[in-house]
Amino acid sequence: MLCLILEKDTLSDYVPQYAISMNSSPVLCDICQLPSRENSAIIMLATGMQTKYCRQAAVTIVWLGLLVDLKKTNLKEKQMTAQIIDGKAIADELRKEVAEEVARMTAAGLPKPGLATVLVGENPASQVYVSMKQKACDQLGMESFGFKLPADASQSQVEGLVKELNADPRVNGILVQLPLPSGLDEEAVLNSISLEKDVDGFHPINIGRLAQKGREPLFVPCTPDGCIYLLDKTGVQLKGANAVVLGRSNIVGMPVALLLVKRDATVTICHSRSKDLPGIVRSADVLIAAVGRPEMVRGDWIKPGAVVIDVGVNRIDDPSHPKGSRLVGDVAFDEAKEVAGAITPVPGGVGPMTIAMLMRNTMRAAKIAAGKVPA
Ligand code: NDP
Repeated sequence: MLCLILEKDTLSDYVPQYAISMNSSPVLCDICQLPSRENSAIIMLATGMQTKYCRQAAVTIVWLGLLVDLKKTNLKEKQMTAQIIDGKAIADELRKEVAEEVARMTAAGLPKPGLATVLVGENPASQVYVSMKQKACDQLGMESFGFKLPADASQSQVEGLVKELNADPRVNGILVQLPLPSGLDEEAVLNSISLEKDVDGFHPINIGRLAQKGREPLFVPCTPDGCIYLLDKTGVQLKGANAVVLGRSNIVGMPVALLLVKRDATVTICHSRSKDLPGIVRSADVLIAAVGRPEMVRGDWIKPGAVVIDVGVNRIDDPSHPKGSRLVGDVAFDEAKEVAGAITPVPGGVGPMTIAMLMRNTMRAAKIAAGKVPA
């Protein structure tokens, strides 16, 4: 039996009267952990009548197959919304740590860590990402070397450049900005990056090692690693947790799922052919959403108290916004934060972690080159 306490005047007509008791002796609500008051309605939920979500203000109960909305309780002032995971602050802290390591390294007479970026074509989003990465290098005291090739560059031109960078001792990390223009073989390009310089972690050998028990990649892909870093910083216990990953892409969904398995979570990977996404997501103690579908995950998909990492970055029209549009994640944040235990915002969640992790990987590559970390 689950005991739920609501204010009487907020009850929906759909709640069967027999289920409501106006008990005068105070009892505690199992959800809110607040005591009943004089005009409280006490609802006893039998097994099988599960709360879809209950975060004090809006409560939905599956009642004999009916969805019952109990719109508003008078407990609003006691609402317990999710902890907002501040990715920007966590990333800033990590960047500071990397900058300190760079300073120690150069003070010891070693060269600055260097990152080479390779941009093929004129994709505006890629141009922005590359310039953000170069700026981050500058801020952290690292060298950055920017290379641009035209959109019609040949496969051998791109691979030739990567080979030159492989041989350049000033370059510790090589980042080929994805996606590459159509017609180029992305896998072959990634394959041509030296394993010790693969700071994006997308080299097939690094990904293969990530997938194998007892093996470790030299570098872990930045966005997935950033998700795990946020979970660790939030103190989330991954061992034995039910984790659901929405998305199975090579750059986010699949590597993050592999990382979760390595951390002893039980992982379900969903994709565009998965059935009953809401049902699967409701089983998640930890949810990683990386589908690229604006606000697809609704609040009532989320298990109360779950930790939600929203990787999605989607621009939607919003005439009320000065720019006429704004960024949203794959999760309906305003709904989800009323249910989840902790959640990342968009922007300001996973996004800043990606570059911070790239900086950390570049530092690691410089240590490998200096013989301070085994390759
Ligand atoms: P992809 O388009 O490569 O992959 C999307 C995945 O989601 C696919 O596996 C796809 O399934 C699945 N999917 C798509 N639609 C649905 C649906 N309706 N139901 C269930 N699954 C679905 O995207 P990415 O992995 O590259 O990126 C995902 C999101 O993360 C994007 O919004 C992107 O902008 C963002 N991103 C953010 C980063 C950051 O630094 N914050 C970095 C990288 C990405 P299927 O395999 O069947 O096609």
